[in-house]
Amino acid sequence: MATTTLTAETIARVAKKIGYLKLKNGGFAIPCPRCHGTGVFRPFGVCFRCGGGRWEEVGHRTVLKNVRAELELEAQRERNGGKTDGELRWEAQQADLQAQRDRNGGLTDLELSEKQAKEEIARAAAAAEIALQAKADGAAAELATRYTPGTRQGFSGTITMRVSGPGKFGTWVLTKIKLENGDTAIYWNDLGDKGDAVSFTATVKEISTRNGEAQVVVQRAKLAQPA
Ligand SMILES: [Zn+2]
Repeated sequence: MATTTLTAETIARVAKKIGYLKLKNGGFAIPCPRCHGTGVFRPFGVCFRCGGGRWEEVGHRTVLKNVRAELELEAQRERNGGKTDGELRWEAQQADLQAQRDRNGGLTDLELSEKQAKEEIARAAAAAEIALQAKADGAAAELATRYTPGTRQGFSGTITMRVSGPGKFGTWVLTKIKLENGDTAIYWNDLGDKGDAVSFTATVKEISTRNGEAQVVVQRAKLAQPA
């Protein structure tokens, strides 16, 4: 960029516009940043940065740089009908955002795509939930052909899980049994250790579903006597 020589008059005019104070030596100054132009800095009394002079001289190169920047803004306002290039850009951006809101029912393009992405995720989650429930319902319906709540029947299988913990009414125990026919039985009591092969009679309490799987919940189990 070509740097034109600035006349003393132009420098003086723009420097004043920016807010510089003209010094008697021909330089320019700003209010002392330490005492904010009071000349006093408590608790020391006279400000030691400006020596009580209230002002701090600004280097000539800095003055010229800021004067040229202001002149550039003046040139922009001249050709843009009073607005800087930055103001024009900002207005164009605002107009674009408004056009987006007008065609998107009040949302910018970004807001609209975020909303659509959220809706898509919610739809997928709902579909997965429905599919899981359908799977569980199907599994429960199949178990219902083999186990009738309230009836007592015999079971054989292997204990695959035995967990226990403290509860309101003492220690609870949960036993999970993989039955010989592939079904899963749940017994809220002790029946043996993990890995034990067990044969027992029990009353079918209900068929429950969990995470798409169905299992038969039994109660009052009685282990068969070994032959
Ligand atoms: Zn000062």
